Amino acid sequence: MKICRAGETSHAICAHCKALVPTTFAYRDVPFDDGAGIVQGILAAVCDRCGLVVAIPAQSTPAIRRARAVAEVALEVVLPAPELELLDLAIWRIDPEAGQRLRKSLLAFYLARFASEPQGADRLRTLIEAAETARHPAGLPRKRLSCKISHRTDAVLRDMAAGLKASRTQIVRGLIREIDLRLVRPDVPEDLETLRQAAALVAA
Ligand SMILES: [Zn+2]
Repeated sequence: MKICRAGETSHAICAHCKALVPTTFAYRDVPFDDGAGIVQGILAAVCDRCGLVVAIPAQSTPAIRRARAVAEVALEVVLPAPELELLDLAIWRIDPEAGQRLRKSLLAFYLARFASEPQGADRLRTLIEAAETARHPAGLPRKRLSCKISHRTDAVLRDMAAGLKASRTQIVRGLIREIDLRLVRPDVPEDLETLRQAAALVAA
């Protein structure tokens, strides 16, 4: 990626001058990408003839992108208490300070992995079946897992549930079974270091 600096010159089409014009990079106030409001002090290519902003370099794009509300879809499932305990135990292994905050991130991590693997759906189906046939003693408490997930994760969850003809609860139970196998049971879990780094990113 090319990084531009203030004072550098280039060429671009200016809508006002209706021509290819020489431009100079300078800091200007520009509208957000959705047009509502102004972002101050953004590096932009400015027309040397009329002074209009004619282009925004790639490096300025994140700054003008309006922050969208990302976590918006409720995920609510009721699980046998030991399954929620497994999820929390895995989180504790990743980061003892993290608490319930990491629940959705961990579920989303493994969901995304199943969705990206060629045999992922089949493997998740097997885990769901195993979770369904697991015998829990009668009278075992059930606990509610409640979090807000992003639209992106929700879409992956919907696709996976539709493909497997499974409920959201069944998918979550399959994911927790995977988390048990990958993070709780092994002495030295393979995924642990990756997840610790990701958790540090989220916690920051
Ligand atoms: Zn111009």
